[in-house]
Amino acid sequence: MREREIEAYFVRRVKEAGGLQRKFVSPGNRGVPDRIAVFDGRVSFVELKAPGKPLRPDQEREHKRLCNAGCKTFKLDSKGTIDFFYSMHDRA
Ligand SMILES: [Mg+2]
Repeated sequence: MREREIEAYFVRRVKEAGGLQRKFVSPGNRGVPDRIAVFDGRVSFVELKAPGKPLRPDQEREHKRLCNAGCKTFKLDSKGTIDFFYSMHDRA
């Protein structure tokens, strides 16, 4: 399964959970996560990956910076991990 399919699944699941998600682009800051998800004012940063693919060093660095700044930051690389993310936020 490709990252594009994982990302499409993530977008669908966030919508189903009643959340909001947007692509995250930050010019001049390599390695920022792919998406920002918002549920009830709570913000999460999400890096999508093909199954089993690790974070690149620049992504690892940015992930740690966001975590150290107190942000919830996730790497999701399978439908299973996305379903878990969804279950954390599902209000139904
Ligand atoms: Mg990615």
